[in-house]
Parts: sequence; C-alpha cells; structure tokens
Amino acid sequence: MLNRLYLLVFLAFANIAAAQHPAVATHFDGSSWWGHVKYLADDSLEGRETGSEGLRKAQAYAVEQFEKAGLEPAGAKGFYQPIQFTQYQVDEAKSSLSLIRDGQSKKLSFADDAFLSSRMTRLSGTFTTQMVFVGYGLQIPEKNLDELSGVDLKGKIAVYLAGSPAEIPTALASHYQTLGERWKALREAGVIGIISIPNPASMDIPWSRISLNRNQPSMDLTDPEFNETRGLDFGILFDPDSAETLFAGSGHTFAEIAALGKDRKPLPHFALPGSLQVVAAITAKTVSSANLVAKLPGTDAALKNEYVVLSAHLDHLGIGEPINGDRIYNGAMDDGSGSALVLDVAASLKAHPENLKRSVLFLLVTAEEKGLLGSKYFAAHPTVPARSMVADINMDMFLPIVPLKFLKILGLEESDLGTRAAGVAQSVGVKPIPDPEPLRNAFIRSDQYSFIRKGVPAVKMDVGFELGTPEQKIFKDWLTNRYHAPSDDINQPVDLQAAALYEEIVRRLMIETANTAARPEWKTESFFRRYAVQ
Ligand SMILES: [Zn+2]
Repeated sequence: MLNRLYLLVFLAFANIAAAQHPAVATHFDGSSWWGHVKYLADDSLEGRETGSEGLRKAQAYAVEQFEKAGLEPAGAKGFYQPIQFTQYQVDEAKSSLSLIRDGQSKKLSFADDAFLSSRMTRLSGTFTTQMVFVGYGLQIPEKNLDELSGVDLKGKIAVYLAGSPAEIPTALASHYQTLGERWKALREAGVIGIISIPNPASMDIPWSRISLNRNQPSMDLTDPEFNETRGLDFGILFDPDSAETLFAGSGHTFAEIAALGKDRKPLPHFALPGSLQVVAAITAKTVSSANLVAKLPGTDAALKNEYVVLSAHLDHLGIGEPINGDRIYNGAMDDGSGSALVLDVAASLKAHPENLKRSVLFLLVTAEEKGLLGSKYFAAHPTVPARSMVADINMDMFLPIVPLKFLKILGLEESDLGTRAAGVAQSVGVKPIPDPEPLRNAFIRSDQYSFIRKGVPAVKMDVGFELGTPEQKIFKDWLTNRYHAPSDDINQPVDLQAAALYEEIVRRLMIETANTAARPEWKTESFFRRYAVQ
C-alpha cells in the first residue's frame, strides 16, 4: 500500500514538488506493465485480430492474470462474453469504380485513386449515379448547421471532406462525424452512396498505408439491432491526392476545398460533373469472438452494487500487407498498452489492497479496431445492470513515449469524472490539458464512446504535449510511422517512468471514483448529457 504519510507530505508540498519534478510515490515501476505488453505484442500472437487464434491466446493469458489477481468472473460464460460478428470483404477482382463524363468512362485505380470501403458497403450491386459535393456533409441542429438543405441528393452520391467547421465544439463535431450519425442525415436526404475524402490536414496515416490495407476485412455485429447504415448502398474512400479528378469541370478545385478545410472554414456545396459507376462484389462470413469481464467486489453494502469500469481493447489488426518485410501488426501500444495496464492495475490491487466501496469491472473488449464493436455490444448488453455502471475509464494507446508532464484528458470538460481526472493528475504534479488536436476526433475513436452513448460518464487519458513543442513532432512521427503499422511492436522506445506514473493516475482515479459517495455526473452544459438516463 502507498505510504500514507508520504502522500500527505507530498500533497502539502504539491505545488513546490510539481515544479521540481520529484519522484512521486507510485505502486508501479513500469516493468510488470511492459512484461504484459511484451507478451501481448509477441509475434506468436499474430496481431490479435478479432476471431483469430492469436486473440484467443491473448484472452487465455488475460484470464490467467485475472485469476492470479483474485478477480471474479463477470462475463456471460465465466470471464467471457461471446459475440457473433459478420465479416465483410470486397472482392476487388469483381469490383470497379468508373468516372463517366461526356459519355466517356474512366476506370479509377483502387490503389491510387479510391476504393470501396467494406465497412460502408455490405451488399453486392451495380449503381450509376450523380455526385454532389456537400462540404463536410454535416447537419448539426444545435449549431444551426445544415449542409444538406437546399441540395438535391435524392438517389445520388454525397461527397464530403472529413472534418467540421471551426465554430462547432469538439465533442459535438466528433459526435456528428460518426458514421451512424452522418448516415442518419444523409439517408433522410435520399443519398444512396458516400464518398469520403480524408482531410489532408488531419490524416494520421498517409494514403499509401491506408490503401495498402484496404482489403482487410471489416466486421459488424451480426444482430440487426446494431445496424446503423441501413439503406447505404456503398461507401468509398477517395485519395485526397487524386481528388482533383472528381472536381474537374465543377468550377471548383480540390486544392481550394482542402485549403478551406485546413482552417475549418465553411465549404461550398455544388454538383460534380458526370456520374460514377460502382460495381461492388462483397463476400460475407460469420466470425465469433468475445469480451472479457472480471470483477473486484466492493465492500460497502449498498455501493458494491455499482461499478467503476476500467476498459481497454485486447484486439488489434492481425496479419496484413508487409511493411519493410514485416506482416505482423503487433499492436504493442494499440492497445497492448491499455490491456496490459488493466492487468497490471488488477495485480496492484491484489498486492496492495484498497478498501473500495464500489465494485470495479475490468473489461477487455474485442473488435475495437472493427468499429468499437465489442464495447458497443457490452454497452447494449452489459453483464451487470446498465444503471449500475457509474463511470468508464478507458485506456487506449496512451503513448508513454515522452516523460509524463501533460495529461491529455478526452472528456475533461464533459463530466465530474473529467474534473476528477484533472485533480488526480495535478496531485502527482502532472498538468491536465484538453485535446490539443480536436480535428483527430479522438473522443469518438475508442471504446469510451460506447459508454458515453449509454449515458455513462467516461474519460480517455493519454500522455500529452503542448502545441508547438518538440514533443508534438514525436507524437506526429509516431502516428505517421508506427500507428496501425507493423512497427507498433516491442522494439520501439517507451518511457517506463511515464507509463508507471500514468498507471498511478488511473489507479488513483479509479479509487476516488469507487469511494466518493456521489456518482460522477455529466456537466449541465455537456452535449453528451442527453444520453444520460433521466
Ligand atoms: Zn487502433
């Protein structure tokens, strides 16, 4: 257990201490965490793809660790919560995209111009239809933004630039850019297909790498209750470097659109000349996987029926196209790091027990990389009563690759949990900051979002940086070179002290949330409050 006296002394001098960056007394040294990461990201686990033998091995390992930590099974079958998925893949040999202009047909290259996204294309079919550029393609009633009104989209393809205008707050912009929300508005407008052009100003991964793995299968939850894109015939991703082809003859250039999009300025709407012929050949099959759920029971007679959820995703991308001769997408940071942390925090509570009033759920979900599917399933069918989950602390790729001086808190301004997380960071001399790069939509890009949609206050915390510092470049380079690449493996440099301090923050936030009588609430002004059960 943490030395109480030390903690009191430390807190009394917190401000001085923070300025001098002393060692904070923590329960962690980073080495047991790194040991779990090494196991999970080993080549023998083959990148832990949903439904694969590698993920099953990772799950067996995690269950072993849960048992060692003395946790109770809290899934549907022991620690497991089985889930059915349908896997979709584009058969490119039988598919094609052709631009038709003035009676001439020009085939687009899947590798270099545009490809069918199996995430947005679920059925085979042939379509020839017109295209309309709709700016960011958003309808945000709260901000009176309607980019679809006054445009004839019936039976047509909506072409949009990923992103949002600057006046839309981050959380709201992120929410309305989820595929499900976007599609609601586009379907209303009569759209049948989508062309999404990544915003060059906010691409994490260069097009060459996106395109390289375009034929990785996608998945969806098999149960039709989860289908969010009913009526969408096809979805296409278009290379921004080739997008001038689409705009030629429209009176606008893509360069002009991209320049506006870079500064999040409003975008014009206009018809694109000619039409697009889409031939989609899709194959589908069923895949089984599971979430893992473990529980540490609380001690308070009433509060033990409530749960603080610690979550991370155990799945990654599996085996893909080789980069520098390596085909295994190990996912050491994404999200071996968060999964290892869940296991390590569980072990720390066994070694140094705390009197926790509420219970804690340790949740390792599957199929995050397929669209937050494991967490979506869990949030819809939790193995504990839905209302009993008071908070979700999600860890995904928290990137301890520089010393932990700034803690980026997604959800910082949305709920009491965000405020608490900030307080905990300060208590160990770390400065809490909101997301400095809202264009990346990080708040909706990991499993916390599945809980948010069900009204559960959530945060995702990451090692952070200030804009314009050398650290910003380190993170940018990491995304460009290692994110969703085989080099996100155990041969990359990590800062074990940063990892240890981050773990301590998670542990303290979990303890505080488990023991504070009041459950965390959404802030009155938070957009996400609407999902809270009234
Ligand atoms: Zn990922």
